[in-house]
Amino acid sequence: MTDVTRMTAAQVAGLISSGDASAVEVATAHLDRIAAVDERVHAFLHVDRDGALAAARAVDEKRAQGEELGPLAGVPVAVKDVIATRGIPTTAASKILEGWKPPYDATVVERLRAAGTVMLGKTNMDEFAMGSSTEYSAYGPTNNPWDLGRIPGGSGGGSAASLAAYEAPLAIGTDTGGSIRQPGAVTGTVGAKPTYGGTSRYGLIAFSSSLDTPGPCARNVEDAALLHSVIAGHDVRDSTSIPQPVPDVVAAARLGATGDLTGVKLGLVKEFAGEGAEPGVLAAFRESVEALVKLGAEVVEVSCPHFEYALPAYYLIAPSEASSNLARFDGVRYGLRVGDDGNRSLEEVMSLTRDAGFGPEVKRRIILGTYALSSGYYDAYYGQAQKVRTLITRDFTTAFESVDVLISPTTPFVAFPFGSRTSDPYQMYLADLYTIPTNLYGGPAISVPCGLSEGLPVGFQVMAPTMADDRMYRVAAALESAVGTLTPPTLEA
Ligand code: GLN
Repeated sequence: MTDVTRMTAAQVAGLISSGDASAVEVATAHLDRIAAVDERVHAFLHVDRDGALAAARAVDEKRAQGEELGPLAGVPVAVKDVIATRGIPTTAASKILEGWKPPYDATVVERLRAAGTVMLGKTNMDEFAMGSSTEYSAYGPTNNPWDLGRIPGGSGGGSAASLAAYEAPLAIGTDTGGSIRQPGAVTGTVGAKPTYGGTSRYGLIAFSSSLDTPGPCARNVEDAALLHSVIAGHDVRDSTSIPQPVPDVVAAARLGATGDLTGVKLGLVKEFAGEGAEPGVLAAFRESVEALVKLGAEVVEVSCPHFEYALPAYYLIAPSEASSNLARFDGVRYGLRVGDDGNRSLEEVMSLTRDAGFGPEVKRRIILGTYALSSGYYDAYYGQAQKVRTLITRDFTTAFESVDVLISPTTPFVAFPFGSRTSDPYQMYLADLYTIPTNLYGGPAISVPCGLSEGLPVGFQVMAPTMADDRMYRVAAALESAVGTLTPPTLEA
């Protein structure tokens, strides 16, 4: 049999439903692959071998009984460790949650289980999803399968690397400022941030609640769409969940794959097309734009004048919400507790626990956010950032009056070497220059591989209006049909 770890999720599902492979065989092949390469990649913080095999057996039994299988039944999936999984360690890559086993599943995990997917384990990330390189994981970084000395992006570097290393065909990420798309871009994989509220946040360990969005990661656009349709949709347990049907993203991806974009208008974001990006990234991006024009798309330049303030606005809003959300880690309720010797006060134990349990980037954000929200500064910082957020949203809505989607490179630069951006937080923050505006607006956006620069993958970003997630899948699949998917190095000894 051909190696199932090299197949697409759709192909794997086909093999299982036709009976040409069992779900147990497929799960075993992926678990073996993890055992063979994850020492070098470190995409996983926890591998749930027994749980994966049990879920696979259940799919095989269902099939044997003639029950109908869903479109992704038996397909393995890796889940970012910021998402609660019942009885399975969930740490958000932080020491403060070491050993915590949630008593419940997040909605996205519940839906993955109901669809018969097979969860392989939990993937590495920057602590509490704060970062762009996975270097801020308390459990050590993930290595990019394209070059083990380089970062796999972040915060969801583990999810993206697990795909590029053929450890899993599908993965789940979360995107607050780019953490699905940027890792997708630098690992040559596909990452989609759905419309905010299009996927449920219930069971996500909260970072910035008005921005956090779970979404699909895959090695091609159709697989991402299949996963998107499994996890998306209204959830009464999330008050910001949108009570509307999910756009038909799978049909849109298949339409796009026919390679016809006649009548589709692409808006080239003027502010993002020039400065700041590496020449190789810009070259791959421009070639892709030409490829889309050949498919019939019309390209017009649009101006989004407030996008240049997105990064500063984000770095006030996200830390402010984080400082409030992370107050729950008090040494009493979950995970780590330090200094509880019977003599120390609650406050002292809390302080010792938070000092030992949080890493430097998380502390930096808590301090920044607490400052921005403090009474004397609230209007000047947090209030002002919210006004900027409104202006950025208006830039999007104005642009979408004249174009169907907006396009840009996903990131200004390709995967960088470890340690090259950790000494200056601002250099790290720049990785999300092109992804952050979408989060502030709340619309969907996808990153799709569009070529190489200096031998490393470059990502192409497609941004769509809220609840028009199908549009971005169509354009991304069309681009994929023109430039192909990228095949990462195989990591064979
Ligand atoms: N890199 C950004 C940050 O550090 C975005 C993170 C994310 O999307 N979770 O906040």
